Amino acid sequence: MSQPEDGNAPVLSVRDLHKRFGSVEVLQGIDLEIPRGQVVALIGPSGSGKTTVLRCLNGLEVPDSGTVQFDGGDTVDFAAKPPRPVVSGLREHSAMVFQHYNLFPHRTVLENVLEGPVRVQRRPRDEATADAMSLLGRVGLADKAGAYPNELSGGQQQRVGIVRALALKPRLLLFDEPTSALDPELVGDVLETIRELAAEGWTMLLVTHELRFARDVADSVVFMDGGVVVESGPPSEVLEAPRQERTRAFVQRLL
Ligand code: ADP
Repeated sequence: MSQPEDGNAPVLSVRDLHKRFGSVEVLQGIDLEIPRGQVVALIGPSGSGKTTVLRCLNGLEVPDSGTVQFDGGDTVDFAAKPPRPVVSGLREHSAMVFQHYNLFPHRTVLENVLEGPVRVQRRPRDEATADAMSLLGRVGLADKAGAYPNELSGGQQQRVGIVRALALKPRLLLFDEPTSALDPELVGDVLETIRELAAEGWTMLLVTHELRFARDVADSVVFMDGGVVVESGPPSEVLEAPRQERTRAFVQRLL
């Protein structure tokens, strides 16, 4: 499960990202930089725009303006109409782990994992199956390959969600509150899997309310509120010695 490529350029550079839903501008100029092999935790109150940032990076939403550059490649300029190079290209670089797993209920675990590599990426089924089984083995779910999602616990389903993302061999993993739908006793296994991926050098952007986990695992923390980045830096600063009053109030409540 090692990171597919290495080097020193940031995997992701986001500049001045804006997104409006109707009359509400939910992203008001977001800057983000994610160095290779690092974990960036995105935190903030509900409604601050965290999920929208992830969805913009994964091509699920189209920002109104701003630029995104993956891995020193072409810069996507969203102010250009239509954005060039095409937005769908963003999906090739990142893979998302959703809050509610988003597995196909009528497909087995293995079929869920193979959907991206075989149907979307057109990789040979045999090779993709071998990779998928190896990834399922890594998270202790090889024996569940033929099971259906509703036969698994929430924690197991989320680990399948993580494997499904890894099977795409993305340069960047996006996690959208991956443990917030889980019963408390199931949270630990999923966090442990994420911790292992961090130790293996995967590059990740992690939206989470688990501030203690963020403090342990993240290289940097970005605090958003009201569609702007209020404060960012290492966990020792943002979580333990915040400079901004808004960050302090949020962190005190949750840490
Ligand atoms: P967070 O992840 O920090 O909770 P979101 O990015 O989900 O915040 O939402 C930011 C704001 O954008 C919220 O006010 C939310 O209601 C609004 N929003 C998100 N998606 C849509 C949408 N598809 N249509 C209209 N409003 C949306």
